[in-house]
Amino acid sequence: MGLFTKDIQSMDDLFVHTLRDIYYAENQIAKSLPDMIDKATDTKLRQGFEKHLAETKGHIQRIEKVFKMHGVEAGGVDCPAIDGILEEAEEVSGEVEDKAVLDAALVSAAQAVEHYEICRYGTLIAWAETLGHDEVVRFLTTNLNEEKAANTKLNSVAVRKGVNRKAA
Ligand code: ZN
Ligand code: FE
Ligand code: FE
Repeated sequence: MGLFTKDIQSMDDLFVHTLRDIYYAENQIAKSLPDMIDKATDTKLRQGFEKHLAETKGHIQRIEKVFKMHGVEAGGVDCPAIDGILEEAEEVSGEVEDKAVLDAALVSAAQAVEHYEICRYGTLIAWAETLGHDEVVRFLTTNLNEEKAANTKLNSVAVRKGVNRKAA
């Protein structure tokens, strides 16, 4: 289903389409994180990825509840954007030999993922508010806050906890 096909007629259709997009993205992220955990050397970085994998599974479950609240079947639509971000992460990390530099590359890839999610949740929440779906807003805001916290944590691991310094 493309964004500009006639499958999307109302604001509500657009909301559901975007919910399916983030649902697909979260599932792809859950599949990619174990690989990032394997590649990470820095203990804090690895622990951060492990924690975020558990959170990501929670995000998927929360979105499934949102589908239910909204009276539509849970399901994803292909999201070429997240596929591209994850593909690029894999490509770049495959090119890095040095473990410390690889950690810096993993942080950068993970922050691109978090920003994508933050952007999607921000939009979904704004639309759900306008559509008057208060419970949906609460559920999606929980996910958004965990994405923001994950991004902040990645930033601190890189900048304050020494991942970038070791890489340099
Ligand atoms: Zn609705
Ligand atoms: Fe997420
Ligand atoms: Fe995330």
